[in-house]
Amino acid sequence: MQVLISSRLLTALLVIGSFVSLYAEAAPLSVEEVAQGVYVHQGAHEDFDENYHGDIANIGFVVGKEAVAVIDTGGSYKVGLALKQAVRHVTKLPIRYVINTHVHPDHIFGNAAFTDEHPIFIGHVKLPADMARRKDIYLRNLQKELGADAEKSEVIAPDETVSKSLKIDLGKRVLQLTAWTTSHTDTDLTVFDANTKTLWTGDLLFIERTPSIDGDIKNWLDVIDVLKSIQADMAIPGHGPVTKNKNEALNNERRYLDTLLRDVRASIKNGEDMNQAMGSAAKNEKTRWVLFDVVNRRNVNLIYPVLEWE
Ligand SMILES: [Zn+2]
Repeated sequence: MQVLISSRLLTALLVIGSFVSLYAEAAPLSVEEVAQGVYVHQGAHEDFDENYHGDIANIGFVVGKEAVAVIDTGGSYKVGLALKQAVRHVTKLPIRYVINTHVHPDHIFGNAAFTDEHPIFIGHVKLPADMARRKDIYLRNLQKELGADAEKSEVIAPDETVSKSLKIDLGKRVLQLTAWTTSHTDTDLTVFDANTKTLWTGDLLFIERTPSIDGDIKNWLDVIDVLKSIQADMAIPGHGPVTKNKNEALNNERRYLDTLLRDVRASIKNGEDMNQAMGSAAKNEKTRWVLFDVVNRRNVNLIYPVLEWE
């Protein structure tokens, strides 16, 4: 009898112990249910070069009757694990899909936290090649930025890719995935939940945070016009608050990108070098955006050499 009680007690302690260590490892990420079955965690407006914790992008999940789709996984394994805990607080349904909206490290490095659920990873048709090309530098940078918190973070390429569009069914809930031409990046993918008319834009839409360009500014302006034509009750941007006024937010973004394009073209025409353009381009947008100086300079750095050849 004595032995029996002890072993029961031991089992109980082990169960409690593993429960505690599981949650000590990763408290669930805070998420908000912005529409029925649509959960979002809003990342902080931090830059990669300063005070970066791997949690700057909007990430989340959609719950159907049979399965869950995770949309972006955050900037580290640690953030991804916390997102998985958040899913598990909401539902026991299998995580059948993990969708990446594009290649950027703040959106993909949490993928590794989901591999034990054996989901189908989905991304833009160009995502596998882009990930392979950027993998080493992304991992090196993450080590520098996060130190020990970069542990277990991995670049995990999609199992299934989207070249134009793809529908996935979570059980009485269809998500429509659309692949875009090179805009914010060359791997941009949006996700539309038909049930609630919610559009996950990835980084094709920035709110508050200065839009950053790693693709093609002219195409992006065109894509914004197409995004405006989509009937959506709600938009979840890649960064910044969820909005019911998608087109107002897209107009703000368009105004910044338009101004930047116009100013850099003018600088080139007036014989200003790239450094001068970095200091002057889109200056009247400065007060309207977070992290403007650092992101705007990088944008000029990217588009100036391209526009020089126009
Ligand atoms: Zn991005």
